[in-house]
Amino acid sequence: MEKVRCLIAGGGPAGYTAAIYASRANLSPVLYEGIQPGGQLTTTTDIENYPGFENGIAGQALMDSMRAQAARLGADLRRGIITGADLSSRPFRITVDNGDEIEADSLIIATGATAKYLGLESETRFRGMGVSACATCDGFFYRNRQVAVVGGGDTACEEASYLANICSKVYMIVRRDVLRASPAMQEKVKSTPNIEILWNCNTREILGDLSGVTGARILRKDGEVFDIAIDGFFLAIGHHPNSEVFSRWIDTDENGYIVTDGKTSRTNVDGVFAAGDVQDPLYRQAITAAASGCRAALDAEKYLNS
Ligand code: NDP
Repeated sequence: MEKVRCLIAGGGPAGYTAAIYASRANLSPVLYEGIQPGGQLTTTTDIENYPGFENGIAGQALMDSMRAQAARLGADLRRGIITGADLSSRPFRITVDNGDEIEADSLIIATGATAKYLGLESETRFRGMGVSACATCDGFFYRNRQVAVVGGGDTACEEASYLANICSKVYMIVRRDVLRASPAMQEKVKSTPNIEILWNCNTREILGDLSGVTGARILRKDGEVFDIAIDGFFLAIGHHPNSEVFSRWIDTDENGYIVTDGKTSRTNVDGVFAAGDVQDPLYRQAITAAASGCRAALDAEKYLNS
């Protein structure tokens, strides 16, 4: 069985940064990139708040660069999803979706978070046929069409703004009478002429036929039910942490976020560290994820060399 000193789960800012630091510390890290190599940033447009890029940088370009940096420094980057983990004793035993089993002296969990869905049957039926959780991935297909975005946070506002540049009209379906987003993002969507906010509204059903989504049935808090004509339905209602594979062994909070020890990345299992969105319900920024990846690699180095 293959044995590695430092196994990293997840190819986002946290995982790649951990790989950069672990490589430079001679830990010979092996990193499995997971379902979405590059992580959530590959589904955003320009990142304007990542320091060092005066004029901003595309999310995909930032991730490609982090990945290339980790590879250049010697990290072994692999396509693959970790499907099982036995963390009951050391070395830890990790199973990959291709059937490989690996022994690891230390483990850094940087598996990120995944978009939430409403849980409607029609949402599942039309997934990939008009229902999407990624405007930058799929917005292109709705050029000059009408679409809806669900949610009132920063993600929803960003997605609505992005889609407003492509689509003829964007509805924002917001369940309260306020947006949760930052004031700047609120201002942006409110001042975009082809964005219409449907306040106090929930989606009752996504309507469609064999060709895909054709509309949505909306229920307003006052009891009114009405339909909107749309071709695309975009979810932007938050994320859940990808901690399930490890949750038998690793302590999580009530929402599934991995609990770490104080300012460190240490989990309740010695030799297992967590970084990035999987342990961060609060900040969830690329820069904070990268910083926590750095911490995890330093913690792993200290653990392995002690
Ligand atoms: P948030 O949790 O901030 O917002 C989720 C939104 O979805 C809320 O408006 C919430 O409504 C709504 N919602 C949740 N569940 C449902 C449901 N079942 N039906 C209808 N609406 C629902 O998530 P985001 O992904 O927007 O943001 C996550 C974090 O990332 C935040 O801290 C945000 O600031 C940050 N972020 C920062 C960006 C940047 O700095 N450029 C860009 C994007 C995100 P309600 O308000 O009623 O709870």
